[in-house]
Amino acid sequence: MDAEKLAHFKKLLKEQLTRHLANIKTEQAAALDPMDDGVKDSVDMSLLDVSRETALRLGERESAMVAAIDQALMRIDEGTYGTCARCGKEIPLARLEAVPTARYDAECQTLIEQLGDEETPSL
Ligand SMILES: [Zn+2]
Repeated sequence: MDAEKLAHFKKLLKEQLTRHLANIKTEQAAALDPMDDGVKDSVDMSLLDVSRETALRLGERESAMVAAIDQALMRIDEGTYGTCARCGKEIPLARLEAVPTARYDAECQTLIEQLGDEETPSL
């Protein structure tokens, strides 16, 4: 992949990173705001607990995305970005445009998902 394309994806990934980090902040604020520690066992709090759990779970998803973006940015620096981590073929640019964090081409991604032994956050 040429430097111009790499720069393009780097920009794309950094924009996504900023957005996901902002999401995490918002979600954590929403999750933690109405709660004080030590009121968990109150029955009245059960509804709040549910929404807090949802928010925390969303936060986990966002964190996984941030990790995936971080890794993609590292691969750009290492020079392995855009190469399938499984078969070594180039990942089509159209796929990277759609999923800039993609580590595998579509074929390998499908295989890995079928095997289910790799934690790849799917978008
Ligand atoms: Zn592959």
